[in-house]
Amino acid sequence: MNSMKAAVWTATDRVEVTDVPMPKVPEGWALVTIAYNGICGTDVAILHGKHPRAIAPLIMGHEISGWVEQAGATGPPPGPSSPSNR
Ligand SMILES: [Zn+2]
Repeated sequence: MNSMKAAVWTATDRVEVTDVPMPKVPEGWALVTIAYNGICGTDVAILHGKHPRAIAPLIMGHEISGWVEQAGATGPPPGPSSPSNR
């Protein structure tokens, strides 16, 4: 699999669900398949173009749960995410 679906903020009040390249997994990091994603005030600020550091295009979502698909050399083991392996 060389691509994945992502919700990409492309402009003020505009989000597009699109295919993006699958990221490489650096040492100490993990590739997580998302099961659930929360929406918070930061996401709303980004959507409305009011977050001071957000620059489009930007993949939305930072409050997630899921399972580890792939890990770098020192990343967490494959399986469900938990406080002990995130
Ligand atoms: Zn948040």
